[in-house]
Amino acid sequence: MIIGIIEHDRGKLNSQSLEMLTLAREVAASEGVAVTAVLIGQNAASLADSLATYGVNRAIVVTHDQLDDYAPEAWAEAVVQVAAAESPKAIMATGTERGNEVMAHVAARLDLPMAANVTRVATGDLYEVTRVRWGGSLLEEARLPGELKLLTVAPLTLPVSEAPVPDMTVTTFAAELSNKAFRVRVTGRELPESDKVSLAEARLVVGGGRGVGSAEGFTVLEELADLLGGAVGGSRVVTNLGWRPHADQVGQTGTRIAPDLYIACGISGAIQHWVGCKGAKKILAINTDPEAPMMTKADYAVIGDLHEVLPALIAELKG
Ligand code: FAD
Repeated sequence: MIIGIIEHDRGKLNSQSLEMLTLAREVAASEGVAVTAVLIGQNAASLADSLATYGVNRAIVVTHDQLDDYAPEAWAEAVVQVAAAESPKAIMATGTERGNEVMAHVAARLDLPMAANVTRVATGDLYEVTRVRWGGSLLEEARLPGELKLLTVAPLTLPVSEAPVPDMTVTTFAAELSNKAFRVRVTGRELPESDKVSLAEARLVVGGGRGVGSAEGFTVLEELADLLGGAVGGSRVVTNLGWRPHADQVGQTGTRIAPDLYIACGISGAIQHWVGCKGAKKILAINTDPEAPMMTKADYAVIGDLHEVLPALIAELKG
């Protein structure tokens, strides 16, 4: 069997799990085995039935009284215990922060190699895999050894496709987890303001970088975003400086955005930022430096001080 770990947050499915199942099915077909989904925590049990649509032959719900929220080591330990009981050929997870984190723990526990962010697998004694590196700016061909193959699937690179299974079965597995496995766990949550458009889904994003100058400097970006019904984002510099929360960060270690228009203000356009915004249909850069990478890559560029350009733009929009 091929095991696919279904990522969820307190019972809410992360749809990238379905992309992972697309590749899991291909690998299973090539190996001549079936796909088994592992759902960690009783609150994920309600997701099990829907997985039959995506080629899952069996779902295993891992139960434990402390598994009501994410805990990376506990998830990994549970996966290791399921693997010991089921002897799969491969274990696959989403190439998200959580998926990669859990699989890194699984690999360490089993002393096996793991390939992260895979988009293609050719099976054999060694798996030959293609994986996404550097935030999507290069593809790497790699060989993955090991009796049991461990890999995560690059997000947003494979389609979600249906392959209904008429007779999927659901079983439970009681994990034995010590308190040590819960050393890292969710202890609290800070929810974003719900009336704002989310960065990942916004059709328009106004992004600010070091050039904005201060947290207060973002007021004008907020005003422009509100006028256009968009969201505000920022570079890592502005989140590091505490001008914006990390949830607003665009880039390799932040959110990937794909709006119709990205207005990048005072952002140099370093590669780690670029990989997060290159999905925008159009980019308008505002920067005092005409040589800044963001200016040379943008569809439209305004050379100037954002503190002058943005108020002028807002005044024009207000008519
Ligand atoms: P700077 O590079 O300092 O650029 C500021 C720009 O503002 C300059 O181009 C300047 O000409 C312009 N400017 C200054 N004043 C004005 C003004 N008044 N009006 C108009 N323009 C003005 N970065 C991210 O953004 N996202 C990530 O996810 C991310 N992940 C990273 C991961 C790793 C492992 C590493 C090593 C780095 C990462 N970085 C990330 C950091 C990245 O390398 C850059 O340092 C960062 O993006 C630069 O931010 P910036 O453009 O705001 O600042």
